[in-house]
Amino acid sequence: MPAQSLFLVCVCSLLSLVSFAEESIRLHVDLSDAPRNIYHAHLQIPVKSGDVSLVFPKWIPGNHRPSGPIGGLTGIRMEAAGHTLAWQRDPLEMYEFHVTVPTGVQVLDVFLDAITTLDSAGGSGPAASSNLLDLNWNAVVLYLKGARSDDVTFVPSVALPAGWKFGTALPVASASGDQVQFSPVSLTTLVDSPLIAGVHYRKMELSKPGETPHVMDVLADSDADLEMKAEDLSAYQKLVRETGELFGARHYRQYHFLLTLSNQVGEHGLEHRESNDSVAAERTLLDPDLHMLYAALVPHEFAHSWNGKYRRPAGLVTPNYQTPMIGDLLWVYEGLTDYLGNVLAERSGLLSDEQYRESLAATAAMLDHRTGRTWRPLEDTAISVQTLRMLSPPEWSNWRRSLDYYPEGELIWLEVDTIIRQQTHGARSLNDFCREFEGRESGAPRVVPYTFEDVVNALNVVAPYDWAGLLKKRVNATSSHAPLGGIERGGWKLVYNDKPNAFTHTAEKNFKFSDLKYSMGFSLDEHGKLSDVITGSPAYEAGIGPGMKLLAVNGRKWSPEVVHAALKSAQGSESAIELLVENAQFIRTYSVNYHDGEKNPHLERVTEQPDILGEILKPMSH
Ligand SMILES: [Zn+2]
Repeated sequence: MPAQSLFLVCVCSLLSLVSFAEESIRLHVDLSDAPRNIYHAHLQIPVKSGDVSLVFPKWIPGNHRPSGPIGGLTGIRMEAAGHTLAWQRDPLEMYEFHVTVPTGVQVLDVFLDAITTLDSAGGSGPAASSNLLDLNWNAVVLYLKGARSDDVTFVPSVALPAGWKFGTALPVASASGDQVQFSPVSLTTLVDSPLIAGVHYRKMELSKPGETPHVMDVLADSDADLEMKAEDLSAYQKLVRETGELFGARHYRQYHFLLTLSNQVGEHGLEHRESNDSVAAERTLLDPDLHMLYAALVPHEFAHSWNGKYRRPAGLVTPNYQTPMIGDLLWVYEGLTDYLGNVLAERSGLLSDEQYRESLAATAAMLDHRTGRTWRPLEDTAISVQTLRMLSPPEWSNWRRSLDYYPEGELIWLEVDTIIRQQTHGARSLNDFCREFEGRESGAPRVVPYTFEDVVNALNVVAPYDWAGLLKKRVNATSSHAPLGGIERGGWKLVYNDKPNAFTHTAEKNFKFSDLKYSMGFSLDEHGKLSDVITGSPAYEAGIGPGMKLLAVNGRKWSPEVVHAALKSAQGSESAIELLVENAQFIRTYSVNYHDGEKNPHLERVTEQPDILGEILKPMSH
């Protein structure tokens, strides 16, 4: 940020400190124990005497579910004027605490620890490790029950581990040594502004001087992992320009890409209004395989600044973090973002055309084999986000369905884009919808809610069509096949052959699994454990189920090479493929009648039709 802007921030924060000092909650987080995955917080909460109820954030934006890490909340101590007060957890609502404040006391001191091995960003592992940390403030705050998060002011500060550097979208009031004081912000802004810090840190500017600042703060487990190639830096700079062209407006003062490259912490991507908090594999910048697999992560989270944070389904707009969220329109919130994330990755040069198509083919094939779609409409996967994300076992996930509103949303929005382009003979596209619905006017962060009808009306302004009919059919009806209309209208078709799919094959290699879903009908991990079996597939018909363990194929000890050799030899043969399988302590042989060889998905060009998909992938900026 230019020096002049820094000065303005400092002056504003001083004024705010004066006016908010009385009613603000002061929060200091000691992060010096981050390598041990425990953060120590001290809150000073203005209160009135009498019975007080404090709440810990439960429904976390971007997670769309009650994922507030209550299991990690520990070491709670409440004090008034130096005396410890007894507190009680509500017996029905685990996120609520009751305390009686003595007469005359105006400030309640609350000390608490957040154990971060559960990952406060809702990911799959710890939030910190020896060299880096991710602070999601919702893990270290309490606030008065019933308050609106916009109306609660926090004055936050942190103590970092010695020598660590940090990145965040929070406005810094002052920094001295390892102590950082931030300007007063609303609870909404605080929870929306994570902080990352670490030993190995690099900062990159993605905008030109004079433009809205875009900063990439990268952390890794070694300096070598921070070496970004010149073409990647220019691709991320292009990503910023592409969003400018696509949306035509920005809803932030400055934007921080908080990117952590580590295998030691939980992998996740979490969107915020003025930043995104993304974790990818340690060698993502160095290894071409990992580079491809994670290419759409940052563009996806960045696109959320418009689709998700600025424009948001009405059911996800809540006054505070205790009010439940309704996820019925997540096929817009996440589905459109999935579509835009991949398209923007390609337009920016993070993915090649071919890589984009291989990714799309893998997505389309996966959904076209989702047998659960015969009983469960797509909208139900969105409404059920709470159970699908937290409580569902991995077994039978194809029959149950998963968070399909992401990938199937991508197919639906591709279909919408191709219809607009066909209806208007190429004059208009989904780019116009993005500009008119998601862009509108630039300014400070704010949220503008929408309903299903608002989406339909905005599409009709771009190109008149029976959008309500189409979208209701796609979202509310069951169907045995995936919506492949966008691929077909785009001038391509989904085909299967023995050539490996670039995306799937790279994922198999790096994440150590074998995907045989479209041939025998199952996938399995490196130890031979079957993660899922597709109902109706040859393996299913043979009696095999998920959770069982493959030991041998046609009498030979299992390995990916042995399975692929068996698929090949079964082609043109009448003999079944014999699988020796362990089910708990019991072992038996299953005969799988399958003779069609390898089946890997790809997109094949239909030359009689115009290449609309190719048009979609053309960059908008120069
Ligand atoms: Zn998302």
